[in-house]
Amino acid sequence: MLPNYRRCVSCRKIAPKEEFWRVVRVFPSQTVQLDQGMGRSAYLCPNRACLQTAQKKNRLGRSLKASVLEEFYQVLWQRLFETDAESQTR
Ligand SMILES: [Zn+2]
Repeated sequence: MLPNYRRCVSCRKIAPKEEFWRVVRVFPSQTVQLDQGMGRSAYLCPNRACLQTAQKKNRLGRSLKASVLEEFYQVLWQRLFETDAESQTR
């Protein structure tokens, strides 16, 4: 894989990492969070289909070897709706 390219945990698409949401299991607290932090990372396309697959099939949890809470997915859905709203006003 090219440097700075990453793979979506849901659809397996490969793209520059800027195109994805980065989900990080922070070390050493094992907290799963978005964007920030050092630790094991998983990447997800910012779209409905990939978020749905990730949630239903626990792709993030499996990739990160951590439990991803329902609340965390709610944060992602919220972000997706905000992104959608932004692109519609453009
Ligand atoms: Zn994807």
